[in-house]
Amino acid sequence: MGSCLKGKSEVKKHPGAFKCEKCGAVSDKKKHVCKPAKLKKKDLEKGKKKK
Ligand SMILES: [Zn+2]
Repeated sequence: MGSCLKGKSEVKKHPGAFKCEKCGAVSDKKKHVCKPAKLKKKDLEKGKKKK
């Protein structure tokens, strides 16, 4: 806890990865982001438009 990538993604967005809702960093490790939200396939498609 307490550690976050602070906006620097470790991995590319993919289903099953965790995205930080606070800073937007993506990681395979839940602990690596401060507010993890598990990405689903749906989320990725949605996120494309918004960039
Ligand atoms: Zn974060």
